[in-house]
Amino acid sequence: MNIVLFGPPGAGKGTQAALLVQRLGMFHISTGDIFRENIKNKTPLGIEAKNYLDKGALVPDSVTISMVDDTLAKLSGKKFILDGFPRNLNQAMVLESILKKLSLQVGGAIFLKVPFAPLIKRLTGRRVCKNCGAVFHVEFSPPKAAGICDKCGKESIYQREDDKEAVIEKRLKTYEESTLPLVEYYRKTGIYKEISGTEDTERVFEKIKQLIS
Ligand code: AMP
Repeated sequence: MNIVLFGPPGAGKGTQAALLVQRLGMFHISTGDIFRENIKNKTPLGIEAKNYLDKGALVPDSVTISMVDDTLAKLSGKKFILDGFPRNLNQAMVLESILKKLSLQVGGAIFLKVPFAPLIKRLTGRRVCKNCGAVFHVEFSPPKAAGICDKCGKESIYQREDDKEAVIEKRLKTYEESTLPLVEYYRKTGIYKEISGTEDTERVFEKIKQLIS
């Protein structure tokens, strides 16, 4: 089943998506990762997107939607996870027409529910490997050697600019205003599924697996 994985920043979408890729061979489409890759490579898309990411605001729909459209069009039949897209009602509606055009279907919109308080702790302590994308946490899951990624061995662990406290507040506000309404939207479409994202990673993964199998 193709799925949309959504929820507040720090809910664990990226972590769960990585497990779905590793263990079920799904294809991960993360709009945030695509933007960060473009920013790293200083492409025109990256230069445009950087301002928005640094501020914790959404990149304009026109840019984001055509990026997702291109990515979906190139899929070769693998089941996919849309992580971080859609992030507002307009993107959700346009996604439906893109899927129709490409004869694709999303069978579940899985909401990872986490209250605000743990999110702030998760986000401020989150560290990411610039090279392979592995996710760590200074307190809950630190790398074995400081600054060095357990997964790829490179010394490339860093804190995302938008995981700094000043930007987190704005990201959570953007989430509340733009993304949270998707709960009602997907409830109405009948594909809404909700999982508590406060449990440990393996339990959350098992629940997602049950929902999609
Ligand atoms: P994420 O890695 O999903 O937390 O996304 C990081 C940032 O990328 C967000 O705060 C936005 O600035 C941008 N972004 C990611 N996905 C979208 C989207 N669907 N629409 C607009 N902006 C997005």
